[in-house]
Amino acid sequence: MTFSEADLLARVPDKLFIGGAWVPSTSGRSIDVYDPSTGLVIKTIADASVEDGIRAVDAAAEVQASWGSTAPRVRGEILRGAFDLLQERADEFALLMTLEMGKPLAEARGEVTYGGEFLRWFGEEAVRISGRYGVNPEGSGRMIVTHLPVGPSFLITPWNFPLAMATRKIAPAIAAGCTAIVKPAELTPLTTLYFARLLEEAGLPAGVLNVITTSTSGEVSAPIIADKRLRKLSFTGSTPVGRTLLKQASENVLRTSMELGGNAPFVVFDDADLDKAVDGAMLAKFRNIGQACTAANRFIVHESVADEFAARITARVNELTIGRGTDDGVAIGPLINDGAVDKADALVQDAIARGATLLTGGSRVDGGGSFYQPTVLSGIVPGSDILREEIFGPVVTIVSFTDEAEAVALANDTEYGLVSYVFTRDLARGQRLIESLATGMMGLNVGVVSNAAAPFGGVKQSGIGREGGSEGIHEYLETKYVLTPDPFGGR
Ligand code: NAP
Repeated sequence: MTFSEADLLARVPDKLFIGGAWVPSTSGRSIDVYDPSTGLVIKTIADASVEDGIRAVDAAAEVQASWGSTAPRVRGEILRGAFDLLQERADEFALLMTLEMGKPLAEARGEVTYGGEFLRWFGEEAVRISGRYGVNPEGSGRMIVTHLPVGPSFLITPWNFPLAMATRKIAPAIAAGCTAIVKPAELTPLTTLYFARLLEEAGLPAGVLNVITTSTSGEVSAPIIADKRLRKLSFTGSTPVGRTLLKQASENVLRTSMELGGNAPFVVFDDADLDKAVDGAMLAKFRNIGQACTAANRFIVHESVADEFAARITARVNELTIGRGTDDGVAIGPLINDGAVDKADALVQDAIARGATLLTGGSRVDGGGSFYQPTVLSGIVPGSDILREEIFGPVVTIVSFTDEAEAVALANDTEYGLVSYVFTRDLARGQRLIESLATGMMGLNVGVVSNAAAPFGGVKQSGIGREGGSEGIHEYLETKYVLTPDPFGGR
């Protein structure tokens, strides 16, 4: 890299982005952003007030009509330009994410690739918003179906994938012709601010995207959600916050997209290729230090291979290097903060107290930063909290099963339904599980499913709607139906 951490941080805006201008907050407050690997402040930025939030709605509402009528090709080209700029600055965005969120640099580079693909994909989708025209069944009229931008959209993103969670919402909103206000998490706002500057350079007109950063997310968001000019709320985050936002959105009858929590089962059958299953498990569990909504939360392994699987996973886990994400060879960076360490540890200690076997890890790492040892637990007792809650940390939990029906029952025994992973060589069994596992996505003999070209999303308490794929742009489009008389006058 040809730049230092200090140079990069100095280039990141520290103000709010409203109506195409970088403006100070009216609150007079500021937010300190920390490096979770050291606990030190890396940058101080503006802390938006309620008034700033409404100013952002003003800006988005003001340009909605002009942006919505901008040629799709123009919208698409701006996204493509942003994609190209992001490739040029991939090292900068990767380092910025590692600094504010802690993930290893190699994974942060992977997120730049993944997050960037939403810009390219939706840049291409912008010119493919099609409708239909047809004769009504009676023959007395012509039916036209067209798609129009929903309108000003409020996009709320979490801290765990600072770039990809933003581009997965911003790109389809822009492609569809919607203006937006984006609110990143207080813990990782820098990537979104830097990305807004990139969009500015890519030629996005003033007011189309506005960024507010705040330490009082509930207080600042509620009036935005209640504002009659807002037409859409898209949220990625935890299920409890999603429920609160759904209630708020109901007052204004907003279109909503909800990408919420997960509790992914990872099912390994006795006929699975165990090498591939272990490789898949390492990806599904340890990507992002276990802090992914798609992270495998429960390993459900056939009793005849459970010990072998546990031994192989433990051997692999013992090879993982813990450290600051910027250091070479580090696979396990810090968790996002000490609260996340406390939560993971409480779940691990509860499982052990109830009778689980600790195979490796099992405690926090002393010294600076919010580190937790990669951990493997087997023989988890049913009813343990760790099987019910999102761990959001580097902890493998293994339970065993005897037959397919039991595996399905265990896998579905959760309020969540985001993603499942299944490893089997039996095609018919794989096909049965596609239909019997209640999740919006499935990895069949693979440990990662995310792709900009695919519809990402969950069922049950994991959410509503899909991001990515040809479905993703429709989250930002209304369907309008028009009937016209038979132009032949009823011949
Ligand atoms: P979170 O606490 O729900 O926060 C998510 C976002 O909502 C943040 O920007 C947060 O801002 C904001 N927020 C919190 N309370 C709010 C309120 N009352 N009104 C408006 N905004 C509010 O979740 P998180 O801890 O950041 O993220 C982890 C969760 O996200 C996990 O449950 C994970 O599974 C889920 N997730 C889901 C997906 C998916 O696609 N399904 C993807 C990634 C993550 P502040 O933090 O600044 O308060």
